[in-house]
Amino acid sequence: MGRTSKDKRDVYYRLAKENGWRARSAFKLLQLNEEFRLFQGVTRAVDLCAAPGSWSQVLSQKIGSPQGSGHVVAVDLQAMAPLPGVLQIQGDITQLSTAEDIIRLFEGCPADLVVCDGAPDVTGLHELDEYMQAQLLLAALNIATHVLKPGGCFVAKIFRGRDMTLIYSQLHVFFSSVLCAKPRSSRKASSEAFAVCQGYAPPEGFLLDLTKPLLDRSYNRGLHQLDGPAHSIVPFVTCGDLSSYDSDLGYPLDPEDGSEHKYTPPVQPPPLPISPLCQRACTLKKKGQLAKEIYPQDCAINTVDTLPQ
Ligand code: SAM
Repeated sequence: MGRTSKDKRDVYYRLAKENGWRARSAFKLLQLNEEFRLFQGVTRAVDLCAAPGSWSQVLSQKIGSPQGSGHVVAVDLQAMAPLPGVLQIQGDITQLSTAEDIIRLFEGCPADLVVCDGAPDVTGLHELDEYMQAQLLLAALNIATHVLKPGGCFVAKIFRGRDMTLIYSQLHVFFSSVLCAKPRSSRKASSEAFAVCQGYAPPEGFLLDLTKPLLDRSYNRGLHQLDGPAHSIVPFVTCGDLSSYDSDLGYPLDPEDGSEHKYTPPVQPPPLPISPLCQRACTLKKKGQLAKEIYPQDCAINTVDTLPQ
């Protein structure tokens, strides 16, 4: 969990530490579930862009039987510390090989839920960031169409921007219900929201083909002005109990009951079980080898063979 000064002040950051969640994002999924009952009847789920793993923690604890016998597959570019009941794949979800690895795990036994909290590294160039986020969402949707069972659910982070109409229209092609939800734990200042897509029902004649993009890539040419049946206005829902904490307010450290604030140590105290992405680059730089070619074995994807049936 990052430790910027903004995070330290944030009530959800503190609550995440107190409750043992790896990131404050856990509350976003919990609040989405409160509103949409996402976990009802779910035994198999995919968590795309999962690191550091708070959504996987939530899923592994909340799905399946009361003893938590559900199966969760977590995927991220970055390595993630292990979690009980969670199979991990390290890879890029926009790459065909990663998508194939995920799909292989669900062959013959599809998933009930696919979630994606992916966010590309922000460049500060608004249009580029929005485009990259949309590409990530479409990669996630592409994977979801291969692994979801009919009636299944897909939840993905979305940044509300001018091309959203096209994305929502695209989602509507595959799901009977599409909503845009803003959990209370998501900061108001952020354009972040979540597309909650329920009732997976691909159109008749839809042929699964991983190599075919789900979206016409020429969409930059003003297609956000779609009209007629292609125009889609999706309902906007805020979720999380109104009496719960506001992510944009500061709260005193001392509890209201007059007792003293107790320091909570980091959920994962150093040394961290995973290394930062830059560590390899730093080591190579020290040895003066940074510009050298990286061989395929250095980028190996850790995969697991099959999911338990
Ligand atoms: N839901 C996570 C949690 O609760 O711990 C937090 C996810 S974090 C906001 C976004 C993640 O997206 C990062 O860990 C990043 O590595 C991952 N990501 C970004 N682009 C990706 C890609 N192309 N493939 C896989 N993961 C990606």
